[in-house]
Amino acid sequence: MTTPDLDAIVVGAGPNGLAAALTLVRAGRSVRVYEAAPTIGGGTRTEELTLPGFRHDVCSTILPLTAASPFFRTIDWDAHGVELIHPDAPLAHALDGGRAAVLERSFTVTAAGLDRDRRTDDGGAWLRLFGPLVRDARKLSKELLGPVVHVPRHPLALARFGLPALRSAERLARARFRGEPARALFGALAAHSMVALDRPLSASFGLVLGMYAHAVGWPMIRGGSAAVTDALAAELRSLGGEIVTGERVDSLDDLPAARAVLFDTTPRAAVAIAGDRLPTKTRSTYEAFRYGSGVFKVDWALDGPIPWIADGLRRAGTVHLGGTLDEIAQSESEVAAGRHADRPFTLLAQYHPWDPSRAPAGRTTAWAYCHVPSGSEVDMTRRIEAQIERFAPGFHDLILARATHAPAQMEAHDANYIGGDINAGISNIRQTLFRPVPSLDPYHAGPGLYLCSSSTPPGGGVHGMSGYHAARSALRHELR
Ligand SMILES: Cc1cc2nc3c(=O)[nH]c(=O)nc-3n(C[C@H](O)[C@H](O)[C@H](O)COP(=O)(O)OP(=O)(O)OC[C@H]3O[C@@H](n4cnc5c(N)ncnc54)[C@H](O)[C@@H]3O)c2cc1C
Repeated sequence: MTTPDLDAIVVGAGPNGLAAALTLVRAGRSVRVYEAAPTIGGGTRTEELTLPGFRHDVCSTILPLTAASPFFRTIDWDAHGVELIHPDAPLAHALDGGRAAVLERSFTVTAAGLDRDRRTDDGGAWLRLFGPLVRDARKLSKELLGPVVHVPRHPLALARFGLPALRSAERLARARFRGEPARALFGALAAHSMVALDRPLSASFGLVLGMYAHAVGWPMIRGGSAAVTDALAAELRSLGGEIVTGERVDSLDDLPAARAVLFDTTPRAAVAIAGDRLPTKTRSTYEAFRYGSGVFKVDWALDGPIPWIADGLRRAGTVHLGGTLDEIAQSESEVAAGRHADRPFTLLAQYHPWDPSRAPAGRTTAWAYCHVPSGSEVDMTRRIEAQIERFAPGFHDLILARATHAPAQMEAHDANYIGGDINAGISNIRQTLFRPVPSLDPYHAGPGLYLCSSSTPPGGGVHGMSGYHAARSALRHELR
């Protein structure tokens, strides 16, 4: 038997693939990463999509999970020149009539804002819901940013999170809050799940994202998200790891011999690449893995900051555009039923005034997407821009250029986003709890084979934790 050339091969240089490679190299193993695209980064690439001098995050841009990730706490961001910028407020929710609900870093200040409407006690309800979670955020990160099936280290903290998390976002919002601002603020947070808000467990997304907004903030990266994966790649190379770009892997037979192969891909791609080398049971589970709705994304080069009516909307890096809880729930259930919303719930990120490095002086960029059925070919630009105009009349006059990505273009940019599904797998009940298989080690695909992408726990987002856990699994098996 010949000795393998390498300890490990990683297929895909997204944040999880690079986190896996770095974990292995730090443990003294030899690793080579193969990336299909000409550049590394997967969902963290930053490009001049519109005009020269305007830098746009093609995919991820607001990175709470980067700030929360236990693995990323091991990276010396300063040494790599990576700056996490915190806008004045993490998030604002636009409401008609020139109003906004603002989610501030401090949960007491957020509560005071929600209490301005004295007919409700929504400030108190916000404190009661988020206070215990924010206090336990660090403990909860250890429980939530890994496999769901595990022996809890902090059972009380997990129970306090788990009971409300099991509910649907709509039920939780209506049961806990009486006023529209708090209900809409919570509902829109939960709508990041890309599932209908009447589905059980959809509340869990609102709880996690709200908790992190208070506990670690919703930062953006100066100059663009690519800096995060550039830093991982720099440390990887400095420790002897190799990265080959522009090399799509179609079959294990095309790769040099290695003791372990880790896939930063979807289960579908892992089946296509590994074929019969996957155990029959894993293979059939991977083939049954389901992908969710897609996104339609627009990036703009703008002649100045967005002219929001409500002051609160100017203070936040992320703005949710969708009006009331009813309207957002309607928009999300349309998409879940395979239709396009007339007034789509839209997630927008703005960089002025916090990151002037993304555009020439006096100008800025903005980023937004809405959810659409998987593989949709409908151009949602007009509907997205109408949602912005609704809360910021005059926005159109600022547009210097725009770039759009429909689901097919998102998938062409990164094969993991099947049908435009930015989480590489739907977050239905089964795949929230068991992603992609019900197991204490859902990363282990078979002898010498691992899945390390966001199709494994903890799911979508730039956190590197799927890669870290998959590499730890390999270090317990073939790479002991
Ligand atoms: C429009 C959009 C907006 C988003 N916004 C946010 C956000 O604001 N905040 C946030 O935290 N997350 C956001 N996300 C999600 C986030 O980008 C992903 O969850 C994250 O990048 C997943 O990391 P990953 O390493 O698992 O996979 P990816 O980042 O998708 O990387 C996978 C890599 O594998 C490569 N690859 C795939 N198949 C092969 C093959 N056969 N051979 C070789 N290479 C291959 C791909 O080219 C890619 O580089 C967004 C995603 C999108 C698309």
